[in-house]
Amino acid sequence: QKGGTRGDDRNDATVRLEFEKLRQKKAYTDILVARKRLPAFAAQENFLNVLGKNRCMVVVGETGCGKTTQLPQFVLDSLILAGHGSEVSIIVTQPRRLSALGVAARVSAERLEDGSVGYAIRGESKQSSRTKLLFCTTGVALRRLGSGDKLQNVTHIIVDEVHERSVDGDLLLLELKMLLQNNKKLKVILMSATINHEVFIKYFNDAPLLTISGFTHPVKDRYLEDYLPSLPYRPSGKGVKRPSEKEREALVSQADNTDESLLLALHVISKADRVDVELIAALVKHITESNTNPGGILIFLPGVQEIQACLNALKSVPNAKALPLHANLSSDEQRAVFAPTPGWKIIAATNVAETSITIDDVIYVIDSGKVKEAQYDPENGLTKLEEQWVTRAAARQRRGRAGRTKPGICYKLYTRKQESNMQPFPIPEIKRVALESVALSVKVTHGDVKDFVSQAIDPPAMSALDHALAVLDELGAISPEGNLTPMGQYLAMLPVDLRLGKMLVLGAIFQCLGPILTAAAIMSSKSLFVSPMDKREEASQARAKFATGNSDILTDLNAYDECARLREKGTSRVRAFCEENFISTSTIRDITSLRQEFLSTLISLNLIPRGSTPSSPSLNTHSSRTGLVKAVILAGLWPRVARVVLPKDAIKFDRVQAGTVQRANEAREYKFFDIRVGDQGGRVFLHPSSVLFRSAEWKSPFVAFFQKQQTTKLWLRDATEVPIYAILLFGGPVAVKHVAGGLTIGNKDAFVKLRAWPRIGVLVNQLRRLLDAQL
Ligand code: ADP
Ligand code: MG
Repeated sequence: QKGGTRGDDRNDATVRLEFEKLRQKKAYTDILVARKRLPAFAAQENFLNVLGKNRCMVVVGETGCGKTTQLPQFVLDSLILAGHGSEVSIIVTQPRRLSALGVAARVSAERLEDGSVGYAIRGESKQSSRTKLLFCTTGVALRRLGSGDKLQNVTHIIVDEVHERSVDGDLLLLELKMLLQNNKKLKVILMSATINHEVFIKYFNDAPLLTISGFTHPVKDRYLEDYLPSLPYRPSGKGVKRPSEKEREALVSQADNTDESLLLALHVISKADRVDVELIAALVKHITESNTNPGGILIFLPGVQEIQACLNALKSVPNAKALPLHANLSSDEQRAVFAPTPGWKIIAATNVAETSITIDDVIYVIDSGKVKEAQYDPENGLTKLEEQWVTRAAARQRRGRAGRTKPGICYKLYTRKQESNMQPFPIPEIKRVALESVALSVKVTHGDVKDFVSQAIDPPAMSALDHALAVLDELGAISPEGNLTPMGQYLAMLPVDLRLGKMLVLGAIFQCLGPILTAAAIMSSKSLFVSPMDKREEASQARAKFATGNSDILTDLNAYDECARLREKGTSRVRAFCEENFISTSTIRDITSLRQEFLSTLISLNLIPRGSTPSSPSLNTHSSRTGLVKAVILAGLWPRVARVVLPKDAIKFDRVQAGTVQRANEAREYKFFDIRVGDQGGRVFLHPSSVLFRSAEWKSPFVAFFQKQQTTKLWLRDATEVPIYAILLFGGPVAVKHVAGGLTIGNKDAFVKLRAWPRIGVLVNQLRRLLDAQL
């Protein structure tokens, strides 16, 4: 069969004929008129020329110029018309699921749903033998390459938004750089916003660059010092003291200006350390009141919480529709931002609106200047989502979103001076996140982790890789000699946090999978119980009703199960129940879908039988044994364990509530020690929101936790009391040293040997018998 590498049943001539028919249709030509106005269209010939002569090229252009939606179609159309339609297969990668779905839908619509466009994101795909343009996430493409696929059947791979410098993006470029040497057919196109693109050109041995010149209208900048003094709003900052002389000096140096109201505002903003949504609301009112022609206002905020707060503050703006835009929305909710509205369209967005999504009618941009970014702390091996200043490159992108259809204005919630202190470019993600997942997948695909990763555009510090390998050893994913273990092989195939993956594998082996699926889903979701500022006490009492097993995870699991039971009786009851009990219905949904996702992955790994459900009896033989469930949770989380110093030497402590410090009478402090670090410097505190905080009865002085959180103190929010024997069985030699030290047990060496995960299959029965006897 001719060409047909993707299994297309039509020959070149038929594909061409069908495309020519498509081009005659009125609906197609109607859209084409609009498409032709995009700057990308003017560059079409040039683009195809350069591509024809090279195997790799870089394309840059302002956001919205038509790179993503048009260039892949140029490649496709030209090949169809040249009579190669049956064999063409183009992959376009997108950094996020949201953009992969959105762009696939858009391009498919531009081709009148002719079946040539498909998508593939984790756990969901739509493609057929006739798919010629496949939009997938960077992660999907990376896993495909990682599984040994040499892309023999792919003619072009287009890597979009390379300027974002995500770990997956950087690794994909590394894979492709190597693949270009072996696969002589494949062509690679990198697409980037105009940010620091020279590094890609250099990395791909002076690949040719095509710049698509934009058509953006001029955008005026309004910095804090420009508008605040004349705005009828002053940040109030309840409880914030006036700046001291020294603080005042520092403020002047940030503002280059001694306007008192401006300095005070800066002071409040810096003290409150959060985005001032009142100020944003005042700006929006100023804009809508001083302009008679309504248009779009795009507000950049660091996170979902700020988006919610902002939408609340904007409720009273007349003749306006305010909408959220962030990665956690459903595709329908996301699509809402594209719909035309008669009045003002106000969109409160995270940085997803910076480059990957274009909303045409935006005239005003309000930039908070803040972004939440993953920050990895190699000291304690935890990744934190931290709010920080955006880079100047990102600020420029945000500003550029105004003025797409006419001249615009960008209001910035910072001063010129503050902007000049921002980092010029983002630090590549690979240099600031935990690398154990990366190390594991590279171990599987390339063997030598350091050798491979050191060839990335910006290789991470070798010490970071050493740490990652040590963690893999600790998890039992690799042997002390560095060889992949069976557990490691499973973990590499599970698309979840490695610890949760290990928990799932063990949950399947120990036949208590139902609760473990839920527990792992809870740990990968946002908080199940919400705690509104003004109703903290009520919320915490609501949660306390579900308290069980001295465990935050089991408590949440209990509440989730109750919801699931009610759902069988009809959804209206569930909603009321959630409202009464401060349970987030969207988190319930997330947990349900994650459970299903975990389950299907375990099935695809042959760890459990096809057709299993979370409640299948064969998966749940031991699910009612709380001790065993806790042991499995611990096995995944190890060594994230702290020793509780019981009230004997407990001291009073200050409870921090809503920004003010209150002395809580009955509050008890348990001193916790991260047992890996021992007694020195490893002090952590149980967060008052933990159900264990009020617990009076302790069966074991150990708790396992998933995350530590640094605010005023180092807090544990999700603790689970774990049986001592579970630690001895699932912990490593350190556990024996720290835990068994105080116990009378026969043979410590035996416990050390039990850590031999490579032989997990042999040990399972032994462990299960031991656990059954001990717990
Ligand atoms: P780039 O990748 O260069 O940032 P895109 O190809 O994503 O640009 O977008 C080009 C243009 O296509 C946008 O400016 C917008 O006019 C239009 N467009 C993109 N996606 C959609 C959509 N979902 N609905 C309507 N128009 C869209
Ligand atoms: Mg794009």
